[in-house]
Amino acid sequence: METRRLNGLELRWGLAEHAALAGAESLWKDVAASGRLSGHPVFRSYVEGLSFEPPGTTPWARSLAVAVLATKPRVLRFELEDGVVTVPFPSCYGGSPVSREDVRRFLAETLGGSSRCEAAESVPLKLAAAWIGLARYGRNGLCHAPGLGSSIRLLAFWTDLPAEEPGVRPEGPAFLDRCASCSACVRACPTCAIPTDYGCVDATRCLSLYNEIEGDLPGWIPARAHNAAIGCLACQRCCPESGRVLADEAGTAAFSAAELGLLQEGRDEPSTNAAVARATGRPEIDQVDAFRPVLARNLRAFLAARRMA
Ligand code: SF4
Ligand code: SF4
Repeated sequence: METRRLNGLELRWGLAEHAALAGAESLWKDVAASGRLSGHPVFRSYVEGLSFEPPGTTPWARSLAVAVLATKPRVLRFELEDGVVTVPFPSCYGGSPVSREDVRRFLAETLGGSSRCEAAESVPLKLAAAWIGLARYGRNGLCHAPGLGSSIRLLAFWTDLPAEEPGVRPEGPAFLDRCASCSACVRACPTCAIPTDYGCVDATRCLSLYNEIEGDLPGWIPARAHNAAIGCLACQRCCPESGRVLADEAGTAAFSAAELGLLQEGRDEPSTNAAVARATGRPEIDQVDAFRPVLARNLRAFLAARRMA
């Protein structure tokens, strides 16, 4: 594993021979066929088609570079008349000071001699990072990198470089040692989505599956479950591997009470769109259009949950 800093963020990476990933492909197919994964159509749209096989457009691919990029937790800070309300915004959803293209360019230069390095769009990233040994699974189904916890972003790139070593863990992916004597995330999950054994998280019951897309939230989700502007941090905040990292709220966007009102209404007009862009760190119009209704609904749900606390 190699480590550098890129635009102030820690970047780790490893290189694995494509041929050495046959075990990962086989495990991925077995899990997909086992019926243990959710059949929810949204979840299926996330995982179907993922593979460790390079696409036909990259016949030159000889190895897979997998990168772990540290992320900075963010909060939205609303300054209201009766005090400040902070709303976590998981960094995996928003803009980043380091883009995928930044990482690709950096790796292409750093790996040296590679004439090709292209984003591997359809690789199961968590399994890739775990198989290469950059991260370990937790009971909560997330990948954890040493010292960074689950506050990370995973990326993968096909390269035409031969890897000097196979680059994978012969024994396959591993769980955190700590999980053997911990079940904090199982207890903290507001929707009971995490099994008590080491099975797959039940994505059909995971709050994130519903609050990152448009539409009404299912009635069975407890009203008190909402804990972030998007996604869910309950099983990360309680985790001894991640809690400390997530408490370091590095990126803060401040808003007035009027802006909170606009964000909750979610109308397509310039002031609201500017607030959405600032909240998400994604000013592209397609991203603003996608986030606006989701943020509006989620902020209303978050504030309702907060009033019940
Ligand atoms: S993200 Fe939230 S709902 Fe999903 S498994 Fe973790 S705690 Fe449960
Ligand atoms: S909270 Fe405990 S059981 Fe869950 S992933 Fe973290 S260490 Fe493992």
